[in-house]
Amino acid sequence: MSKELKILISFMVFSLFLWGIGNSSMAFFIKNHKPIDDGKSSINMFAMDTYISVTAYGGQSGVALKKVESKIRELESLWSVTNVKSEIYTVNHHEGRAVSISSITAQIIRFSLQMAEQTSGALDLTIYPIVTSWGFTTGNYKVPSSEEIEQRLKYVGYEKIKLQEDKIQLPEGVQIDLGAVAKGYICDIVADILHDDGITSALIDLGGNIKVIGTKPNGNEWKIGIKAPERDGYLGTVEIVDSSIVTSGRYERCFRGADGKQYWHIMNPRTGKPAESGIVSVSVIGKESKLCDALSTALFVMGLEKATQYWRKYGDFEFVLLTDRNELYITAGLENKFSLHEDYRTMQVNIIPK
Ligand code: AMP
Ligand code: MG
Repeated sequence: MSKELKILISFMVFSLFLWGIGNSSMAFFIKNHKPIDDGKSSINMFAMDTYISVTAYGGQSGVALKKVESKIRELESLWSVTNVKSEIYTVNHHEGRAVSISSITAQIIRFSLQMAEQTSGALDLTIYPIVTSWGFTTGNYKVPSSEEIEQRLKYVGYEKIKLQEDKIQLPEGVQIDLGAVAKGYICDIVADILHDDGITSALIDLGGNIKVIGTKPNGNEWKIGIKAPERDGYLGTVEIVDSSIVTSGRYERCFRGADGKQYWHIMNPRTGKPAESGIVSVSVIGKESKLCDALSTALFVMGLEKATQYWRKYGDFEFVLLTDRNELYITAGLENKFSLHEDYRTMQVNIIPK
């Protein structure tokens, strides 16, 4: 056989192999950002301690996703509590001095302060000394003594933060954590980048913190699953268009103490302990992901009754809430948007009227 013929046969075999693995796997070979087909591009990455996946259709989706990836990395490096080079780390090791921060960091802190005020301190970004005390930052979980909690609570209180334009000053010992809002905030920024690049349909998933642009490419609404608590699978689905859905659940990060009790990562800033509000999980649906993220944490702390009052007062969002008595509540706006999963079809869905 001639050399040319051998080369031609090798090339044909290789082409058939690539053709055989099909379109979706091709993405693996093409690596990361290039459009796969019909203007669809995806990225999968690990950042902010979570798996991130963004899928975009139309426009310059490959180019847009490159920008998205570097923006996520940039914001992660600014807002990480553990990275010694981050702005938040610098702010948290300020020893009482004023610190200059970038305007995007000032903006997310300002937003967190507004939400802290609006939720009467259920959301409080100064909760960090308490979160570390329980070991949620490192994974070295422990139940702190009541003296330790008492001591650390002295440093908790969002009104202790002085923020003037792009300068922040915290009293010594006060530390902040953007963990309750950062993913939502970043989700909105990612959606803006995609919008600006002409993307008309996209699914942004930052570790379960979800935002969609438009409808699915086929014109249908996006059906987003709400995770079943303490097991695999879904409790139900919500249909959304151009919106976000964010869940705070007590099963997300938790441990069992030596006393046999379960402790979770969402804290009541008044007690310095995991919020025992009777809520297992609450998912918030709204236009802005940062609002959904802030509220999922805050409503979890508030409990069903206060969450309902808050919703009636502000009303620019909806929620799905599961209690520890296995009761499910949805707000009126979701009546035709929420469906229970098959496995939960016998569950009663209580609709909260306006
Ligand atoms: P999320 O998963 O959005 O509910 O946010 C929970 C994370 O926010 C925790 O892992 C803590 O880092 C932080 N956190 C816990 N409790 C609060 C609270 N009451 N206010 C603000 N941040 C909190
Ligand atoms: Mg949150």
